Amino acid sequence: MANLTVEAIELTRLYGGRAAVSDVTFQLQQGQVLGFLGPNGAGKSTTMKMLTGNLAPSAGSVKICGIDMMEHPKQAKALIGYLPEMRPLYKEFTVDEYLTIAARLHQVPSGQIKKAVAHAKERCGLTHMSKRLIENLSNGYQQRVGIAQAIIHNPMVVILDEPTVGLDPIQIRDIRALIKEIGQAHSVIVSTHILPEVEMVCDHVQIIDKGQLVFNGGIDVLKQQRIGNKLLVGLRHPPEAAALRAIPGVTAVEAIDGLWRVQFAEGAQPHEAIAQAAVAQQWGLYHLAPDQTSLEDVFVQLTYHDAATDAPAKAA
Ligand code: ADP
Repeated sequence: MANLTVEAIELTRLYGGRAAVSDVTFQLQQGQVLGFLGPNGAGKSTTMKMLTGNLAPSAGSVKICGIDMMEHPKQAKALIGYLPEMRPLYKEFTVDEYLTIAARLHQVPSGQIKKAVAHAKERCGLTHMSKRLIENLSNGYQQRVGIAQAIIHNPMVVILDEPTVGLDPIQIRDIRALIKEIGQAHSVIVSTHILPEVEMVCDHVQIIDKGQLVFNGGIDVLKQQRIGNKLLVGLRHPPEAAALRAIPGVTAVEAIDGLWRVQFAEGAQPHEAIAQAAVAQQWGLYHLAPDQTSLEDVFVQLTYHDAATDAPAKAA
C-alpha cells in the first residue's frame, strides 16, 4: 500500500518474563486517526514507546513509512512526533524558546526554525502565548505546547499518549478539535481509556486488553456493535408482558425504569407491529426507539475475561 505510514508487526514486550504487550500487529495509513483504547495497564504506553523507538521490542518490528525502526532508528524517528504521557516540557522557558529548542532537536534546518515555530503555534492556538513562561500556562495550554513540539517538524506520524487526561471539559473539546485537524494531513495515533473520545476524534479504533488486541476496525464497525436488536417502548397503560411477547419477531420483554425493553430476533422488524398493537389496544404509546448498547458495554464485552481460561469472551 503506497501511503502506509505505520506498520506494527507482531510486537511483543516482556517485563520480567511477563508480557506487557503480546503479538500486536496493525497498520495505519496517511490521513487516518487511530484510537488506541484500553483500560489502565492494558499496554498502550508500552506499545507507543515501541512505535516511537523509545523502547526496544522483545520481539516483532516497527516500520514507519516503510523504514525499519530497529535498522534505521534515526530516519524512522525523524518521521514521528510524539507526546508521551509525561509531557516533555521545560517549564522555565517561554513557549517560543521551548519550541525553538524542540525544532532544533527535531533537526529542522536553522533557516526554517522561525517559520516552523510560528506554524506550530498557529495550529495549536498558541500564538498569543508566545512570550509566556510555560510554567505560568494552564494545563490545557501546556498540553497544546506538548502537541506543538510533536508537530513542529511536520512529521508523517503523530503519536499522542492520553492527550486529554487531566484537562477540563473546554480544554478537552479544544484538544480533540486540534487532533482532528492534525489528522487530516498526518497519521495520528491517540491513546485513551475514554470511549466517547474515540468516537469523537478517530476513524479507526483498536482495543487492547492485557497486552492483546481484542478489536481492530473502523469506528463504524464499533458503532454498529451498539445498535443491536433491542427496542425501548414506553406505554402509559402497559399490558401484561405476555401481550408484548406475543408480537411476531419479539423474543423477550423486560421492564426497566418505567419502559419496556423489547428484544427481537435478528432480521425481524417488530416496530410497526408494536405501534399497531399499542394503538389498537390503547396502551398509550409515547416512546419507541432503538436501545443502543453503550460503548462502555461493548468495551466490557470485548475485554471481559473468563477468569478460568483468561481468554477474551468475545474477540473481534
Ligand atoms: P497503559 O498505558 O495501557 O496504562 P502500560 O503500557 O503502561 O499500560 O503498562 C502495561 C503493563 O506493563 C502494566 O501491567 C504495567 O504495570 C507493566 N509495565 C509498564 N512499564 C513497566 C516497567 N518499566 N517495568 C515493569 N512493568 C512495566
